[in-house]
Amino acid sequence: MYHCHLQIYLISRQPDGFAAIRDMAPMEFFTHTFFESSEPQQALAARADLILADLQGMDAACETKKLAAWKKPEADLVVLAVGIEGAHGAGELAEKLRISYDKYGFFMERHVKLAPVETNTAGGYLAGVCQGAKDIPASVAQGSAAAAKVLSLFSRDKLENDPQIAQVDIKRCVGCGKCIDVCPYGAIKKIDFRGQPKAEVVETVCQGCGVCNATCPQGAIQVSHFTDNQILAEVNALCQF
Ligand code: SF4
Ligand code: SF4
Repeated sequence: MYHCHLQIYLISRQPDGFAAIRDMAPMEFFTHTFFESSEPQQALAARADLILADLQGMDAACETKKLAAWKKPEADLVVLAVGIEGAHGAGELAEKLRISYDKYGFFMERHVKLAPVETNTAGGYLAGVCQGAKDIPASVAQGSAAAAKVLSLFSRDKLENDPQIAQVDIKRCVGCGKCIDVCPYGAIKKIDFRGQPKAEVVETVCQGCGVCNATCPQGAIQVSHFTDNQILAEVNALCQF
C-alpha cells in the first residue's frame, strides 16, 4: 500500500485564481498540502512537488525561466499565461471609440457567432490581432470580411438604423443629466427647451442598449418597442401561465 503526498505551490495575482484547486478535498491515499504566493518565490518553489503558476500580468518568459531553475528536478511545472496582450493604449482607444475590450486589452466583437467582425458601436469593424491571438490566414479572412462590410455601407444611398432607439418624454424630463452620464455611446445631449434643460437623443448614434431607460429617475426616457409598459405587459402575460 502506498501513500502519496504532494506539496503543491500555487502562484497567482488573482485572489480566486486557484479557488477550485485549493478547495479540492484530499483522498485517502493521495493527499496534498498547498502553499501560495502572488509572485514566484525561490524558497517555496524549491519545496514543491508541483508548481501551478498563473503568470498573467507578469513577465511570463522571465518568471518561467526562474521557476524552472528553482524547482526540484523531479517537480512538475505548469504555467498559465496568455501568449500576447493587447497593444499599449488599446484600452484608451477602445474607450474613445466606445467599443468593448477585455482585461488583456483586446477589442471584442459584437457577437462571437453572429457579428464576429463588428464592434458593439455601429460602423466599427475588427480585423486581426487587435481582437486576440490569431494566425495570418485567419487575420486575412477577417480583414476581407471587415472590408466587405465597409463596402456594403458605402454601396447604399441611405443608411438605415434600427428602430429600437431611445426617446425622451420632454414633459417628464427634468434635465438631471443622469442619462447623459451613463450612455455608453454618447448618444444623449443636453438641450435648452423654453429655458429648461432637457435631454435629447441623437437618433443616429443611439444603439438602443436601454441603459438610459434603466437609469432615468423620472421614467422620462424609454426605448421604442421596449418601453416599461410593454415589458411589464409581457411579464404579466407570462405570469398568467
Ligand atoms: S435621466 Fe431622465 S430626467 Fe434626467 S435628463 Fe435624462 S431623461 Fe431627463
Ligand atoms: S438606449 Fe440610451 S443609453 Fe443606450 S445608446 Fe441609446 S441613448 Fe444611449
